[in-house]
Amino acid sequence: MRDAETIVRVDGLSKHFPVRRGLFKRTVGRLKAVDDVRLTVRRGETFGLVGESGCGKSTLGRCLLRAIEPTDGAIWFRDRTGKEVDVRGLGKRELRAIRRDMQLVFQDPYASLNPRMTVAEIVGEPLVCHGIARGGELRRRVAALVETVGLSARHLDRYPHAFSGGQRQRIGIARALATDPAFLVCDEAVSALDVSVQAQILNLLRELQERLELSYLFISHDLGVIRHISDRVGVMYVGRIVETARTEQLFARPYHPYAEALLSAKPIPDPRRKAERIVLSGEVANPANPPAGCYFHPRCPYARDVCKTAAPPLKQVGDDRFAACHFAGELQLRGAL
Ligand code: SF4
Repeated sequence: MRDAETIVRVDGLSKHFPVRRGLFKRTVGRLKAVDDVRLTVRRGETFGLVGESGCGKSTLGRCLLRAIEPTDGAIWFRDRTGKEVDVRGLGKRELRAIRRDMQLVFQDPYASLNPRMTVAEIVGEPLVCHGIARGGELRRRVAALVETVGLSARHLDRYPHAFSGGQRQRIGIARALATDPAFLVCDEAVSALDVSVQAQILNLLRELQERLELSYLFISHDLGVIRHISDRVGVMYVGRIVETARTEQLFARPYHPYAEALLSAKPIPDPRRKAERIVLSGEVANPANPPAGCYFHPRCPYARDVCKTAAPPLKQVGDDRFAACHFAGELQLRGAL
């Protein structure tokens, strides 16, 4: 999974939160929000990360930027000189410096913008924090950034409440672009928006990707959005990646039964075709007390005895695709074309 075009590489990444109980808040267990994740993002691509809410997608995205400190594992980022940097090994100052290159676009454009700051202050903040610009140069740069995301420089002195949800998300994107990053984690970046506005923001992200040579980790629970924007997709279940594949491969024929169930729940835009939704029995596994073997076995319609005791590793099952299922490739699973 490693090549010269890789911009982010993650190996064995885990984030466990302590589970505390009782009067003295004693630690009684660990919640495995992210569990032994291995993935790569290539330069110029969009890697879509999909799964039900609570599966660890957002925690994983934040761990990559060390906005949340991982418990274990390695994160490598290829900087502008082409050198791979060990992100987990960085001290405070070096981490601050590399954060210029790795930025986050937040989910909720209403909550993520400070209502007491003007657009100029919001978008200019990273430029000031990183000592990139000030004074007239700062104003000039901020104006160029808001125009890059399709807003007018006339709006610089307005406050967030004066904008629609889509415009606010454009402001959030301008802020993320202020330091000229190479890699963006977009965490449910369009989930809070109406469908028509979602399409505009997705198109903007694509346009920016081409123009500015950006790479994205795009996190969403919405398979339609993931399909629209992603070059490759990773499917997460209870903190683990269970399948990665090129988008068209995954939608044509998934190799993991959980991916098949997710795809079957996606609405089909053709009224003549009848959707055959796979309804999974049982509850999503508890990440504080996951089952032995394959975490998906209590709900998997294809489970056999081995699944109850042996955890399937994420193994290569084809050209550019990986799956964590003992029977990946053997099972004839249904796609969503
Ligand atoms: Fe289902 Fe077994 Fe594959 Fe897990 S390993 S997804 S339980 S068939």
